[in-house]
Amino acid sequence: MEKRTEIGEVGEFGLINHIASKFTQKQDWTDLGIGDDTAVLDPKGNKVVTTTELFIEGVHFDLGYTPLQHLGFKVVSVVLSDIAAMNAIPAQITIGLGLSNRFSVESVDALYEGIQLACEEYKVDLVGGDTTSSPQGLIISMTATGVVEADKLVQRGTAKPNDVLCVTGDLGAALMGLHSLEREKQVFLANPDMKPELEGKSYVVLRQLKPMARFDMIHEFRDVGVVPTSMIDCSDGLASEIIHLCNASGLGARIFEKNIPIDDETYLAATEFNVSPLTAALNGGEDYELVFTVSQEDFPKVEKIADVTAIGYMTNIGNERVMVMKSDAIVDLTAPGFGKQ
Ligand code: ADP
Ligand code: MG
Repeated sequence: MEKRTEIGEVGEFGLINHIASKFTQKQDWTDLGIGDDTAVLDPKGNKVVTTTELFIEGVHFDLGYTPLQHLGFKVVSVVLSDIAAMNAIPAQITIGLGLSNRFSVESVDALYEGIQLACEEYKVDLVGGDTTSSPQGLIISMTATGVVEADKLVQRGTAKPNDVLCVTGDLGAALMGLHSLEREKQVFLANPDMKPELEGKSYVVLRQLKPMARFDMIHEFRDVGVVPTSMIDCSDGLASEIIHLCNASGLGARIFEKNIPIDDETYLAATEFNVSPLTAALNGGEDYELVFTVSQEDFPKVEKIADVTAIGYMTNIGNERVMVMKSDAIVDLTAPGFGKQ
């Protein structure tokens, strides 16, 4: 049997010291990290962006198929994706933890292993948090900060008519990964001796379990000298994010079905699960790609970036949010995912 140390044995402070000892500082504007009443940050004249995401077991994640290490990495990616969507560079995170007595020191260690890996990947400092007991299940609150020069900050509401609407990467894979994992969980519950059937699903499963915030794109924008005119990250599905950009900018948008990037593995999995790949891309969510607009003038520079796809353009018809199908039919973009977590 694996070793199990009760949190009560080491105590809350013992646990915090144990966690803190594994992390090293990476950002020169983190003046003070874990240990005092608060962390101290010195942004040196830059704009600071900050945001929080809350994750509740049974609502946002299922430990039945999510290893704790992956969960740790994912919660950091999810909160940092919002920092990327402001065109900012991430720097610090704090984490609030609610732990039921099901969780041992070893399981907290597994979660922090993933968090630590993410801190290395994104070069961010863990500068604080709070630890408390939860009557049931695991609760994780993640806060992140980042910096951006005032002239590079990108909001949702600043797109202009005729700007080119672009996305990074491909869409719909995370939902297919979720379907694959949920099917395996049901198979396992019915017969624990069954071997998992995840062959041919490695990409979609990875997209679900270990999403990446696209700071590679934020660096590309700086390298080519372009500031997008508006941006949002794709957490709820492309349709919903485009509607947010349109609402915030007071504009319409027109996209083209034939341009929506969908990976081959996503197509195959969608066929297997009887889901339309297009619906997965438009309404699936959890892909954490960036959806952004650039001026026509800047588009040639952005077009050269690998992994960027132009999918349409902004219009000055305020209530237009449409997709031109391969058949030339024009359909309204809707976000049935609205209201889900
Ligand atoms: P306080 O009683 O002032 O809230 P705590 O004992 O909760 O202080 O926290 C002590 C230090 O440890 C603080 O710097 C806090 O930010 C940090 N900390 C607490 N819990 C965590 C955690 N789960 N992960 C990382 N840092 C934590
Ligand atoms: Mg506290």
